[in-house]
Amino acid sequence: MWRKVRREMRRKGWLRRQEVNVACRRVPSPIGHTSVSPMISSAILRRSWAAASDAEVTFALNDAGESLAAFSRVTADSGSLIQSWIEGRTVVEYEHYPPDDVVDVRSGSQFFYHAHRSGGNEHGHMHLFWHATVSGRRRYVAGLPRRWVRAAPTHLFAIALDDRGLPVSLFTVNRWVTDGYWFDASTIQSFVARFAVNDASGNADSCAWLNAFVRMYRPVIENLLLRRDRRLSRRKDLLASLDDRRLEQLSLLRLDWEADLRSLEGEAVRRRLAL
Ligand SMILES: [Zn+2]
Repeated sequence: MWRKVRREMRRKGWLRRQEVNVACRRVPSPIGHTSVSPMISSAILRRSWAAASDAEVTFALNDAGESLAAFSRVTADSGSLIQSWIEGRTVVEYEHYPPDDVVDVRSGSQFFYHAHRSGGNEHGHMHLFWHATVSGRRRYVAGLPRRWVRAAPTHLFAIALDDRGLPVSLFTVNRWVTDGYWFDASTIQSFVARFAVNDASGNADSCAWLNAFVRMYRPVIENLLLRRDRRLSRRKDLLASLDDRRLEQLSLLRLDWEADLRSLEGEAVRRRLAL
């Protein structure tokens, strides 16, 4: 099924390497001067899939199919993932899209899109959060409009999108950028495993894309978080480093979604799994 979706998307030009302006007048992003890197699939994913069981590769295939189908729906309906959140508005630096974020009060997952960085082929990025208490759990209290208390949105990682809404990199940021409690890579990874946004009215397709995309990229996200912790571990004072304004982005991994999809397809063909 997903191979058909991918073929259809390429036919319509949604996966083609071309530049599309999404009306981003006030963001200092080099729209129209996008340099596109060659397609290289993630070595982390290739290694992970090569070592996985057939069942795990089948799960990854299902995630790939779900994310592609959702991406296809949202692009057909709104023009792009980005347009589904900005809805034709002019993108203003640091403003959130959609304006109230997308929050799933049941799972405690949250994300928003915004733009404030220039350089590379990034138009803007999604910040993903999971609401946790200082001990890394969440308390539920019946009857409150928000079902968790004493929790703060903990930043998991960010997904940079190009001006077509295609994911181009994953990165982590320092604590002062988003606040929230700070957890080590393995704890954040356990939040990532539970991350799911499902309650968002009007954003069902972008949520479906995101949930499946995050599941498919978990090995890369794990590596990204470990790189973040490794970088901080080289510094003498962790608490001071978490507030150090000179340290903003802590780790970054570029990605090529289409190349990764093709790589997964190759793994499935090698194993003679049904596509
Ligand atoms: Zn940001």
